[in-house]
Amino acid sequence: MKLNNLSKVLKDQPKYRYVQVNKFLFQDYISDWSEASSLPKTLREELTLECPLEIKADIFETGTRKLSKKALIYLEDGESVETVLIRQKADKKTDEEKGGDSKSDTRAHRNTICVSSQIGCPLDCAFCATGQSGFQRNLLSEEIVEQVVFWQRLLREESAEEKVDNIVFMGMGEPFLNYNEFIKAAKFINNPETLNIGARRMSVSTAGITEGIKRLAGEKLQMNLAISLHAATDNLRRKLMPIAKKYELVDIFKSVDDYIKKTGRRVMFEYLMMKGVNDSQADAEELSILMRKPLYMINLIPYNETGRFQASTRETIDHFKNTLEKNGVSVTVRLSFGSDISAACGQLKRNPTGKKQMFD
Ligand code: SAH
Repeated sequence: MKLNNLSKVLKDQPKYRYVQVNKFLFQDYISDWSEASSLPKTLREELTLECPLEIKADIFETGTRKLSKKALIYLEDGESVETVLIRQKADKKTDEEKGGDSKSDTRAHRNTICVSSQIGCPLDCAFCATGQSGFQRNLLSEEIVEQVVFWQRLLREESAEEKVDNIVFMGMGEPFLNYNEFIKAAKFINNPETLNIGARRMSVSTAGITEGIKRLAGEKLQMNLAISLHAATDNLRRKLMPIAKKYELVDIFKSVDDYIKKTGRRVMFEYLMMKGVNDSQADAEELSILMRKPLYMINLIPYNETGRFQASTRETIDHFKNTLEKNGVSVTVRLSFGSDISAACGQLKRNPTGKKQMFD
């Protein structure tokens, strides 16, 4: 999809054409200008030439239930970017997920998509596959938006009722190292004249880039913030995440506290559970001390193995969770999807050849 000539093509058209075109592109999710039936034929022809709508991608489905899917989207410069669709049964809908919607929704599933903000990642965290394949470049905001449009089109084809419900900026890359394009994309996705997805249905995760946390606090966008913590001490954190040498825990907590003061919003801390690395009783006690604050909550993440570490056992995770709860910390355990197609958290990798990748 290439829309950079759109303003040029619409330059001499009446103003309402922009509104029409935005609706076709970002609300009806057309994939061919011939579907834009209310536009004059000559304009449709020009748009077909100047603004191709095709999104080139390969899709990988999960083995048995085919609920989660991963797509590899091919970009103009031959690079590719991964994005994931996660489908969950709709029975446990929280207020957060409802996003203030009062309309009754009878669909069997909720659709969450995980979008990437960079091609590869410069952070090189020891537990994550994305960094291991290096960093190529930042994504442009339109390349971030394209991932959402891709899934919306696919869901619409399935049924007129289907749609993207939630967006997590937790794919490849560090969103706050590409802040301008990330926030431009988030605002575009939120805009009622384009994709119109509520900010409360969007979450961004950062490895703790404090400048980004400060900037997000100043935005008029009620988006959810998550911090990848993974260790309760700077010492261990530095071993797992090289970026922790630059951003110490005390600085991260200071900017999170300022963010909470300013926005009144909850902040989620993500904590990967790795066997013998960060999952001991002492780790749980130390973490409890850090987390015992209003509006802090912790999300324990079962580790998807990427070669370096082993996952904590279910019993260890339950025990860890109990310790935190006993200490008055608000804690949840993340369900994990898509590990059979390398689509789960931490498994997204750059495809440097630009060729189709094969998965088991
Ligand atoms: N750079 C950002 C955004 C990427 S988010 C950040 O660090 O937050 C990716 C999410 O997946 C984070 O919560 C991260 O901690 C988690 N993750 C990374 N590797 C993982 C793995 N191997 N298994 C499970 N989760 C992982």
